[in-house]
Amino acid sequence: MASHLAEALIALGGNVGDVRETLDRAVFQLCDGSAVRLLARSSGYKTPPWGVEDQPPFINCAIVAATMLSPQALLARTQAVEQAFGRDRANERRWGPRTLDIDIIAYDDMAMATPDLTLPHPRLFERTFVLVPLAEIAPDRSIAGVTVRDALSKLDTNGIERLPPRR
Ligand code: AMP
Repeated sequence: MASHLAEALIALGGNVGDVRETLDRAVFQLCDGSAVRLLARSSGYKTPPWGVEDQPPFINCAIVAATMLSPQALLARTQAVEQAFGRDRANERRWGPRTLDIDIIAYDDMAMATPDLTLPHPRLFERTFVLVPLAEIAPDRSIAGVTVRDALSKLDTNGIERLPPRR
């Protein structure tokens, strides 16, 4: 455990099953209010599939959380939540359909590259499905010296649809 509270930016998404329900439950399970505390959550966004295009659209959201967990412990926790929602990494295509994917986008301003964890997330600046939800809740947050707003302004956000609140 880290001795201080860190701020983590986390992206969630999926395209199999009742994804909005899955995202609600996953955020609740991930953010228990003690080890991981939810500070902000974006709307859900319907986003075109990326990488492999012959699959249903994804629904994505982003959260900001305060955590006492180390980056590695936070990754273990996000992977446990993915598994709880039926994700089976052994039987899926890269960038193919999935019930739930959780990525740690940033952890304070930490930069690291280990076999299991790269921070900030290496593909964050190419991904509108990450930056659009993040820009709703943390536009001024700087990641690797670039604000989320500036990073997003360089990308084409066509096809991304903000969803109304569920209830
Ligand atoms: P994916 O299947 O695309 O979700 O990739 C998951 C793999 O990426 C896992 O094996 C993680 O160990 C690794 N990984 C590296 N950096 C990160 C990160 N910042 N957040 C989540 N997973 C990461």
